[in-house]
Amino acid sequence: MKFYITTPLYYVNGNPHIGHSYTNIACDVLSRFKRLKGDEVLFSTGTDEYGQKIRDAALEKEMTPAAFADMVVPRFRELWKKLNISYDDFIRTTEARHEKVVAQILELLYKKGDLYEGEYSGWYCTPCESFWTKSQIVEGTCPDCKRPVEHIKERNFFFRLSKYQKWLVDYIGSHEDFILPAIRRNEISSFLKNPLNDLCISRPKSRLSWGVEIPFSQDHVTYVWFDALINYITVCGYGSDNRRFKKFWPADIHMIGKDILRMHAVNWPIMLHAAGISPPRTIFAHGWWKIGEDKMSKSKGNIVDPLSMVDKYGVDAYRYFLLREVPFGMDGSFSEGALISRINSDLANDLGNLLHRTLSMIDKYFSGVVPERRGVSDTDNIPGALVYEINNLTSKIETAVDKINFSQALVSIWELINRANKFIEQKAPWKLSKEKKIDELKDMMYDLYEVLRVVSIALLPFLPMTSEEMMKQLGLKKEDADIKKIGFGHGKAGTRINKGSPLFPRIES
Ligand SMILES: [Zn+2]
Repeated sequence: MKFYITTPLYYVNGNPHIGHSYTNIACDVLSRFKRLKGDEVLFSTGTDEYGQKIRDAALEKEMTPAAFADMVVPRFRELWKKLNISYDDFIRTTEARHEKVVAQILELLYKKGDLYEGEYSGWYCTPCESFWTKSQIVEGTCPDCKRPVEHIKERNFFFRLSKYQKWLVDYIGSHEDFILPAIRRNEISSFLKNPLNDLCISRPKSRLSWGVEIPFSQDHVTYVWFDALINYITVCGYGSDNRRFKKFWPADIHMIGKDILRMHAVNWPIMLHAAGISPPRTIFAHGWWKIGEDKMSKSKGNIVDPLSMVDKYGVDAYRYFLLREVPFGMDGSFSEGALISRINSDLANDLGNLLHRTLSMIDKYFSGVVPERRGVSDTDNIPGALVYEINNLTSKIETAVDKINFSQALVSIWELINRANKFIEQKAPWKLSKEKKIDELKDMMYDLYEVLRVVSIALLPFLPMTSEEMMKQLGLKKEDADIKKIGFGHGKAGTRINKGSPLFPRIES
């Protein structure tokens, strides 16, 4: 099985923030999960470097746009490294491989008559790079960002979006999973009840020269939102490696934030369809992280810097918080207080304690060697029993991950962790030891070891470093990280454990 997942290409006009990190962590979890299953994964991310916003940001720093992009791109790469983002390709829209495919698509659509030249006049918002009609602007300001718009008249190229509107409406109607979650599909469906305007896909060089050249016009460059989307087919080999393209396209998931839904769910499928290419399977638009009730923004000065959070609390604590705190798709509210309480309760208390005390007991009662268990009986195979719950974990996680519901997957893992913690309280192994009930004690330690072993594998996509550290302490090898081994009985009696320091020290706030 193949799995192709993409993040949006991030604009390099500012530093990466929590929203960028959220998208990439989500894609990383899905990629690692598919790899754990043995699928062949292509996971791509990158940067969007053309357009007016970048040109303006560069001007402000008295740099060329190219030099400016070169300065910002490493900040994204550094963050992905710190967050353990296991991407396979990082594409920059200024790369030749990308520009070549953009030119190919432009030529193809132009020859087909889906691009035409016309005069554009309208109200233009520079920060949003959007034209608005007279009825859309509000007292001379942009309806999106409320900044002043200016009236512009120019020759440009247009893409016949309107010609394909009916096709798109039918396609969305017959493909339930095309736009997710459902609330976003409904949003696009109601947007498509009104007639689509054709899309202006060029910018006159007289106004903006920082863009991909249009092959059939000396006077224009490509509109940044038209060129950037094309990266999704560049990455998997369109126009350069046909076998690879056939293998990986259509993309399985385009992961995006909800603010760029229309470009992805309206413009992009129509561009592909017009070019004779199938649409992606799923476009998933997740929610935003707010600070209290406020949207994070530069002007409010409340932007959370993911690097500082990682330096302060550790990468897996940060990943865990974002994935666990809200159902994926909804908006979330970020606060350090909430992050600290997740670390203390879920990570230090539930998970960290279970590992530490189980390994301490195996050390104490069995000299650090996993004991052998007696056979499994009927009472082990009833709901609530550890054996039964261990054997049901894979299907619970798979169901949740297939629905792109990370918090639910983590809840299932933590239910098992907490069941094991409760089991220790109920069975009181220290009493079993005192009463010399050695067979019972062996069974119990083996079962607890099995819980930790399957948890260490199940956590790999979510908390890769924690998973690795747990596996080390449990005496497991790399090849034990296999989804087929998330089931009772794969753990080997006789394995020597290596108890280490606690996974997550408690944080005093
Ligand atoms: Zn605006």
